[in-house]
Order: sequence, then C-alpha cells, then structure tokens
Amino acid sequence: MIPLSELAQAQQYPAAALYVVATPIGNAADITLRALHVLGLVDRIAAEDTRNTGQLLSRYGLSKPLLAVHEHNEREAAQRVIEHLRAGERVAYVSDAGTPGISDPGAKLVDAVRAAGFAVVPLPGASALATALSVAGDWAGTFTFLGFLPTKAKQRITALQSLASHSHAMVFYEAPHRVIESVQALADAFGGARRLLIARELTKLHEAIHCCTLAEGPAWLAGDPNRQRGEFVLVVEGAPTQPSGGVEDHDALLRTLLEELPVKGAAKVAAALTGVSRNDLYARALELK
Ligand code: SAM
Repeated sequence: MIPLSELAQAQQYPAAALYVVATPIGNAADITLRALHVLGLVDRIAAEDTRNTGQLLSRYGLSKPLLAVHEHNEREAAQRVIEHLRAGERVAYVSDAGTPGISDPGAKLVDAVRAAGFAVVPLPGASALATALSVAGDWAGTFTFLGFLPTKAKQRITALQSLASHSHAMVFYEAPHRVIESVQALADAFGGARRLLIARELTKLHEAIHCCTLAEGPAWLAGDPNRQRGEFVLVVEGAPTQPSGGVEDHDALLRTLLEELPVKGAAKVAAALTGVSRNDLYARALELK
C-alpha cells in the first residue's frame, strides 16, 4: 500500500504558483493531508489574518513567512504576492476558516494572480456550505449559495422578495446575533411552510443540526439561548415548482396557433412544443374554436 504522505507528493506542485488552501471550519483535524503537504512546501503563506494562521500552523508543527491579504487590502496585497511569484516562489493563500473565496477574501487575489500569468492551484477541503448541504437531504439537491443577507432590514426584505419564487434551495450564512431576525424575515418573505435546515457550529463541540419549517424556526431558536450561539448555515427550501395543470394551461399557445392553422395542425404543433397529448390538445382546440 502506498503511504498517504506519498500520495500527497504524487501530485505536481509547480513553482511560481498560488496555492489556494482550504482550512478547517472548526475541528483542526479536518485539514487534508495535501493541505499540510502544501503548507509545508510553499515559500510563503498569504493569510486573511496572520495571527490566526500563525496559531493554526503551529498546531500542525509548521512555521512560514506570512503576508496579510484581507478584504481591506486584497488588491494591493495581491501585487506583493505577484512579486513573490515573479521571484519563482510557491505561495499559499488561506482564509480564517474554510475555503477561501467563499464569503471570504481570496477571489480578487485569484483574479490578479491569473491576470499576471501565474498558475492558481486549488487545495480542496472544508467549507461550511458543503458541510451543511451534505446533511440537508434531497430537497436541497439543487441549490443557490447566497452568503450573508443584507444586515439592514429594508435591503434584506428587498433581497428576499426578489428570491421568493426562486425554485432552488437557498443557502445563507448568518451571524448569531441576527439569526432569529433573519429566519423570521425568510418566513415573512417565503411563507412558513418551506423546509429549513439550521446548521450550527459545524464540526465543533456544540454542533447542532435542526430541521423544521420556516414558521417553526424563530420559536425553536428562541426556545434556548444556546441555540442562538455560534456560527450558522441556513438552508431554505426553494419555491414549489408550478404544478403542471390541465390542458387549459396551453390555451394562449393554442389560440395563437389557431389564428394561422386548422385545429388539427394547431394541436400537432402545440403537442410538439409542450409534450402534452395531441388528442387532449385537439379536443381543447375544438372548444376554443
Ligand atoms: N470561507 C468559509 C467557508 O468556506 O465556509 C466561510 C467564511 S464566512 C466569513 C464565515 C461564516 O461561515 C460564518 O458566519 C457562518 O455563517 C459560516 N460558518 C463558518 N464556519 C461554520 C461552522 N463551523 N458552522 C456553521 N457555520 C459556519
């Protein structure tokens, strides 16, 4: 059997490349063997918070020169990263937790590095998004990730109204002090019947996963102060898809076709366009005529 450390080494790790490395979202054991290999291999680590990353590295027995790249300096700091890449260095980027670029800095750095002609290499690993979705269930199989909702109530209402008929499940990140009001706003905008998955403190000691409806969500969260503590992912069921109704649903199409075609021809074209039975459409076209 090939030792795991050799499996990590089997991949190419070109020089003059940026390595975008996912780190744990809670439990420090959720780092990958390849992430550890790359963090040990690179010449420098660009980090959202150098203090935080320094502490994380020390847990794995690693120490590297660090460079701060966070949301307030990402564009300028990207130029410093590019200078190191020009010198032939391998540079890693890590955010505070999880996968860089997902509601975290990293995307502008990736754009700048690629625009400067250097390779960008992903090192997959933990993300609160994928972790919550993995336990959501089949109803969240098709989803849209929306990150944090606007913090101002008016903007949040506008954002949610525009999503009310969205048919994918929606994934939101939320902070503890806003979680009840956000779930309430979701229930107000989408109605109370939709499914809600509340994923709290994933991979941490007080991890909790609760499934309920949007109507039940605020009361469940308020039922125990501990339920409002920590970090949250909210997965909300999408809008129900329109039930395919009767043949009358295609009246507008049939009427337009009947202006140009005989009943039989209109039914034939409508059947080809809609997949509805030609006989049913023929009978309806006769009624409309
Ligand atoms: N880049 C990270 C990722 O890949 O998930 C997300 C960073 S974002 C700044 C932080 C937010 O992610 C938190 O406010 C929370 O909504 C969510 N989050 C991060 N860790 C989490 C965890 N352990 N449990 C639940 N949600 C978490």
